[in-house]
Amino acid sequence: MRVLITGAAGFLGSHLCDRFLAEGHTVVGMDNLITGNMDNIAHLFGNENFNFIKHNVSNYIYLDGPLDAVLHFASPASPIDYLEHPIPTMKVGSLGTLNTIGLAKAKGAKFLIASTSEVYGDPQVNPQPETYWGHVNPIGPRGVYDEAKRFSEAMTMAYHRYHGVDTRIVRIFNTYGPRMRLHDGRVVPNFIYQALTGQPLTVFGDGQQTRSFQFYSDLIEGIYRLLKSDENDPVNIGNPSEITILQFAEAVLKVTGSKSEIQYVQPTDDRITDDPKVRRPDITKAKRVLNWEPQVNLEEGLAKTIEYFQGRI
Ligand code: UDP
Repeated sequence: MRVLITGAAGFLGSHLCDRFLAEGHTVVGMDNLITGNMDNIAHLFGNENFNFIKHNVSNYIYLDGPLDAVLHFASPASPIDYLEHPIPTMKVGSLGTLNTIGLAKAKGAKFLIASTSEVYGDPQVNPQPETYWGHVNPIGPRGVYDEAKRFSEAMTMAYHRYHGVDTRIVRIFNTYGPRMRLHDGRVVPNFIYQALTGQPLTVFGDGQQTRSFQFYSDLIEGIYRLLKSDENDPVNIGNPSEITILQFAEAVLKVTGSKSEIQYVQPTDDRITDDPKVRRPDITKAKRVLNWEPQVNLEEGLAKTIEYFQGRI
């Protein structure tokens, strides 16, 4: 296959490039580097099956030659990134989705959109099955990301139903691992950085909000299986082991061996406005249609991630 991966210089996009190249495919990577980093794909330069185009996919995409699949992974993805870049976030989820799916249609390629557990908002159902419609504040600070992703899903289904494009929708739950940005503001890099540098771990609110963290390699496997499957409806890919943010801070302290303290903080900016109180994927469907379930537990994944960050501090 020849595949286009948008957001190729990002955390997940770069790991996807690695996976498709390892499977013997040819990859065109695209990124405008708003939050991506060329260091994530530097090792691919010189690989004759890879080429990189610096381009903002919210603008028209021109690409020569055949394409078998388009994977749209370009978007700021951490709450502080989309608070800082609200309009590019909305554009890449709307115009970027329109351009990438239009390209897939023109080339007769499959289309896979990176959606998110944020489509469920601050959920009133836990765990979240794909059939849950969500509880999203459209005009809150997270709305720029959540609604752009919901629009992406609606656009994807419209192209599937109306134009017969062969589409996939993956709803990605919290994912961590090497190549996350040390200062992207998310809880995983924040706590690891704080633990490794002896600073207090900043638990927001009372720390009783929950998340379910999956190691990136499990997600990449799920996405690869989804693309090969014939499932057009959304599929959750995430690790169902749910923990509180306070428990997560304790896990980081344990795996790093750090003596840092835990500090409760109340950010006064928008970072915790509409912060989901619970989040856990129901992965019954992924098990059934993809024969997929996560393989890496938190301690193992954290150890590998900590090793990566140690080399960057
Ligand atoms: N969080 C925290 N301390 C931090 C950063 C985040 O307690 O330094 C909390 C945040 O309020 C949220 C959870 O950790 O409840 C996960 O936040 P993250 O930004 O990683 O991603 P989200 O799952 O909210 O998209």
